[in-house]
Amino acid sequence: MVLTAHRGLCVYCGRADSYSLDHEQPVSAEGHDIWWNFMPACKACNLWKNGRSSRIWVRDMDLHHRWPSVFPGRAMKPEVYAGISARVERTQREIQDPDRRDWFRHHYGTESKPRNKVELLRRLKSCAQDLKEYAQIPWKTPALEDYGRDVCTRRMCCGFRHDDSDFTLVFLNTDERDELERRARQEGLHAGDLLGKIARQYLARSKTPRKAA
Ligand SMILES: [Zn+2]
Ligand SMILES: [Zn+2]
Repeated sequence: MVLTAHRGLCVYCGRADSYSLDHEQPVSAEGHDIWWNFMPACKACNLWKNGRSSRIWVRDMDLHHRWPSVFPGRAMKPEVYAGISARVERTQREIQDPDRRDWFRHHYGTESKPRNKVELLRRLKSCAQDLKEYAQIPWKTPALEDYGRDVCTRRMCCGFRHDDSDFTLVFLNTDERDELERRARQEGLHAGDLLGKIARQYLARSKTPRKAA
């Protein structure tokens, strides 16, 4: 959930892929070890920031930039560190979006923690790929109302499968169904709407004049 925020990029340098979780407010400074204190970061920025909140880190880099002999350290370009606060704020809002959180919980919530970096990268990649296939951001599409169960009911995602959806039953094999869902997303429809469209075209085409009694 955190690592795919900010388009999968490190919130600090804004360039490298993020595959580490940084504690925005460091644990050593009473920051919490919980999702809302996590920022997606590249390993290099995470190590560099080390034990500082982003506000303090930006201050340190600014001091170094202005008076390098008094405040020694490594330099980051001002145009990069000047954007950190805004990127952090924007990404915090993204991560805290309850609809987004619910969507991730429904779709990835039961997965165990990745055991190593290879597995983490593999999962991140497949998650990013999944997300790319949606024509709209799924957690921003309408949901079935009052479904009564804690499952994903976004119409452009899982919603069309639920009992409350008024769709006629169609039997397709798994490949056909996947392909249909993929094409529907490409057209910005959910699978049911695409089926309806296809059925209407078929009915219009095959309309036969009625025989006289
Ligand atoms: Zn970085
Ligand atoms: Zn879903």
